[in-house]
Amino acid sequence: MVDPRQSDTIAAIATPPGVGGIGIVRISGPDALSILSRLFRPRHPSRFPRSHHLSYGTLVRADGRLLDEVLAVYMKGPATYTREDVVEIHSHGSWLVLRMILAEVLATGARPAEPGEFTKRAFLAGRIDLTRAEAVMELLAARSEAGAHLAVSQMQGALAGRVEKVREALVRQRAVMEVAIDFPDEDVEILDGTALLQALEQEVLEPLRDLIRMADQGRLLRDGVQVVIAGRPNVGKSSLLNGLLREERALVTSVPGTTRDTIEETVLIGSVPVHLVDTAGIRDDDRDQVERLGIERARSKMAQADLILFLVDAAAGVGRGDRELYRDVQNRKHLLVVNKVDLLAREDEVKGLDLLGGDREIIHISARTGEGLEELRQAMIRQICTDGQELADAIACAPNVRHKVSLQAALHACERLAAALTAGEPADLLAIEVQEALDHLGEIVGLTTPEDVLDRIFAEFCIGK
Ligand code: GDP
Repeated sequence: MVDPRQSDTIAAIATPPGVGGIGIVRISGPDALSILSRLFRPRHPSRFPRSHHLSYGTLVRADGRLLDEVLAVYMKGPATYTREDVVEIHSHGSWLVLRMILAEVLATGARPAEPGEFTKRAFLAGRIDLTRAEAVMELLAARSEAGAHLAVSQMQGALAGRVEKVREALVRQRAVMEVAIDFPDEDVEILDGTALLQALEQEVLEPLRDLIRMADQGRLLRDGVQVVIAGRPNVGKSSLLNGLLREERALVTSVPGTTRDTIEETVLIGSVPVHLVDTAGIRDDDRDQVERLGIERARSKMAQADLILFLVDAAAGVGRGDRELYRDVQNRKHLLVVNKVDLLAREDEVKGLDLLGGDREIIHISARTGEGLEELRQAMIRQICTDGQELADAIACAPNVRHKVSLQAALHACERLAAALTAGEPADLLAIEVQEALDHLGEIVGLTTPEDVLDRIFAEFCIGK
């Protein structure tokens, strides 16, 4: 698994493109210090290089031209991110300057780093396991506090620790089976089926099932859910979107809509990033055609939604237009929301509401006054998450989709093992299932992960990480 190119020195700009206060060029590998020494003129040469200390000086090109005033740090391996010698050059955050510095570093003997290659080196050097490497990437991409918290827990080994515990339990089982294989005459006594089964249930099957459940909740925390606000023009869709955003905006990164005709924003509802889609963007001029188009778009958005908020106008009552639109909604997961209740004296005055049929829960709100928005949020949480406690657990540790696939494969092997133990199968047969489960758990932390999967994971990183 050792990358043959690992002995070379890599470099990349580690800060994002654009103008910033500072920018960082990062170098890792055996030539890191010699490259820095050739380009860097420290203000106090007697104090350079001191590992893990910042030095102030100038960066000068091979032809003698000054590139920038910089702070440079040399970090001697293995107490570094990659466990190799690492150098960071902190320059002014001009993309142009950074590119010139990188060009000079490359001309002096480094090669450009591939996406995620610094983290891949940390993984290959055994400094972090694969779940921790993935967590680094998740932290960079996190869009909510809960998502960031989850990534940090995973970076600290929350998931790897749980997987390791299960692995250890299986290794203990395998040890018993190996003894039984070595002493076939006594295998009945050695293989105490009841004790092994009990340990298997408590130390392996239960934790695996828990982790798989948490993976589903983790998906919500990482990717969020798509909630579409649907309804006739003027029922108050945009007002509701704004109403939900008003209180949440401070907490989230808003993602501007990608098209002009649907408006998408992200809010946090019960820690879950909720991508709200307002389908009302089109309804200006050219009314008929535009409205038809709008309805088409709304339909396709509704088809992708995890939850639909179907809005009707309390004052206008429910009419034919509402009923037609509702036909597309009624068989999907949805909440029926009556807006503009501030215009009514009593909630039960809404005309035609019964025509939508059924005895479902109806939520009354006023997007204008904010009345009922908290109830709406609670109802959304109930629809989105099955269990609040599970969601809270998932923030501390939630496997991603790749982990879940391996967890399920491990679980199936362990269930076969349990069946074989119950049936009193011979030790060598049991050992095969144990090994299979161990291999699948090994995939999660990177012990037995195929090379192409590793490449795929690191390729998703940005350059410089
Ligand atoms: P959309 O076409 O469904 O997006 O509806 P808008 O959000 O643009 O709202 C249409 C009109 O209804 C606007 O004039 C809003 O100010 C008004 N409106 C929206 N929500 C409420 C509400 O709760 N109460 C009252 N009184 N008016 C509302």
